[in-house]
Amino acid sequence: MKPTPSTTRGGHRGLIRSLNRRGSAAKKTAPITKARKIKDPSICDRCGAIYTAKSWRAARRLAPELLAKAAYIRCPACEQVDKKEYFGRVLISGAFAANNLEKIRTRIGNVARRAQSNQPERRVVSVDWDGSMLEVLTTSQKLAHRIAHELEKEFGGHATYQWSPDDGMLLTIWKSPNPPGVPRRTLRSW
Ligand SMILES: [Zn+2]
Repeated sequence: MKPTPSTTRGGHRGLIRSLNRRGSAAKKTAPITKARKIKDPSICDRCGAIYTAKSWRAARRLAPELLAKAAYIRCPACEQVDKKEYFGRVLISGAFAANNLEKIRTRIGNVARRAQSNQPERRVVSVDWDGSMLEVLTTSQKLAHRIAHELEKEFGGHATYQWSPDDGMLLTIWKSPNPPGVPRRTLRSW
């Protein structure tokens, strides 16, 4: 399996790291839209996302005359990834996860790719396996929610969601089926 561009191979950094996740209070609801003034059109020199009409869109065709006058900058989502700034966190544990890491990474990659193609602000910042738990950090709460939801839908187990009252961060915990092969729950209690 090829790793997706937005994920990293499990390193040995462990899960306890100092990350620049806390933004200002303004970031609570809208981490992206509080960005600096951006020239219209602009193109991200990293991911190719295009800024025009007050929003970032995934790379697409741009008329040559627009292309010629576009500014090349780094989009806010790529900046967040660079700074390892995240607003969503998914913790994945359980026997199934330990035995099916590649499948799970592939699923995460697919969910992330689809999210990014619709809304380039939604990115996976990192994916790390520490030997017992897989940690996925995302630039948006919605993407973390989506990942946990899709994992639960596809593989069973149980996902829970906790929003921080302080900064709006979303922590989701997906307990994969344990032992593997146990049918998925039909009732969710969140
Ligand atoms: Zn970008």
